[in-house]
Amino acid sequence: MNKNYKINTKCVQSGWEPKNGEPRVLPIYQSTTYKYDDSDFLGDLFDLKADGHMYSRISNPTAACVEQKIAELEGGVGAMLCSSGQMANMLAVLNITSAGQNIISMSTIYGGTTNLFAVSLKRLGIDVRFATPDMTDGEIEALFDENTRLFFGETIANPALVVFDIERYASLAHKHGVPLVVDNTFATPVLCRPFEWGADIVTHSTTKYMDGHATVVGGCIVDGGKFDWRADGKYPELTEPDESYHGVRYTENFGVESAYITKARVQLMRDFGVPLQPITCFILNLGLETLHLRMQRHSENAMKVAKFLEASDKVSFVSYPLLESNAQYDLAKKYFPDGASGVISFGVKGGREAAMKFMNSLKLASIVVHVADARTSVLHPASTTHRQLTDEQIINCGITPDQVRMSVGIEDAEDIIADIKQALGE
Ligand SMILES: *Cc1c(COP(=O)(O)O)cnc(C)c1O
Repeated sequence: MNKNYKINTKCVQSGWEPKNGEPRVLPIYQSTTYKYDDSDFLGDLFDLKADGHMYSRISNPTAACVEQKIAELEGGVGAMLCSSGQMANMLAVLNITSAGQNIISMSTIYGGTTNLFAVSLKRLGIDVRFATPDMTDGEIEALFDENTRLFFGETIANPALVVFDIERYASLAHKHGVPLVVDNTFATPVLCRPFEWGADIVTHSTTKYMDGHATVVGGCIVDGGKFDWRADGKYPELTEPDESYHGVRYTENFGVESAYITKARVQLMRDFGVPLQPITCFILNLGLETLHLRMQRHSENAMKVAKFLEASDKVSFVSYPLLESNAQYDLAKKYFPDGASGVISFGVKGGREAAMKFMNSLKLASIVVHVADARTSVLHPASTTHRQLTDEQIINCGITPDQVRMSVGIEDAEDIIADIKQALGE
């Protein structure tokens, strides 16, 4: 699709570009299997010399169109959908990290990702070193060693809403010869495109705003195509022959710009088998077609709700990146000039009990374990998403016991605010 089109146009039209007489809407290619006229072509496919699909564990035409759309939205060279956001972050790490090596991650990340890194990847022999937002550059640099493979952070951290200074961390990562991986789930490419600020790999839980209707779980990895994997011989899995593929060298055979995403697909997706199903891709694509409209409304509504809460004396604190009172306001203005997405968090005066009572009194907003869909919802992180973490880990994630996370939907802001008002007992 024309690269000069604006992101709003790409949301609607990128990906599926029908030829004469083909369906206008992205078709669901519900087929695991593909048919060939001759076996030589299939041989070339297996050798990765020809372009095409061989088996839907590895790729599928419906998925490919949605991958193309997300890559274009982020401004990357290629993307790979997978079964969940968890899987996207896991594959993003495993693609370039082995037992005995380590990664550096911000501590203020999604609880599920904290567990993935600190528990499951640790069991696979991968060490994670957590950086906190208050660390100086020098303190962060001290975390790197010759076995460090990547630096990880979330554009807007879930649920602490800490803004990740992408430019700063990209330059620290690059100084140590490793890529910056950014989970852009909360911002979406409509509000922030991390590649434009120096990130190298972007991940998504498409389950959230991209789908936007709380219907399908999915994940995506996007390759920015700019990181030079050859630079200091640190990534032999990309630069040296892959024996499981007759000695293919990803950087040589697919170019430095596509090496990472190609390996993720033909090696990790082949071996782990966690594709997103065609019908799921179709549903995800319906969500993506209105992503630009929804992100604008989510952001506007969240701003109105945040301002209302800030003025309420029943509330102990309000955190929303674009509130002028926010410590990271300047950073938020820089990275999110068009809005800071729909999630806000705030404390209800009276601690844990008051927070629970408030939530139970809501009528329009519902209590769910999800964020980022069309309907306004609330969650108490300390007793749910972060329940498996220790108190110290919870505080490291930037969470307090009285904290409510609200995912502001796209209903009328007046109705959302009226509901909050009655639940606060104002
Ligand atoms: C939800 C979420 C994930 C995990 O995604 P799933 O699709 O639930 O597996 C990862 N990162 C962030 C920022 C999330 O909000």
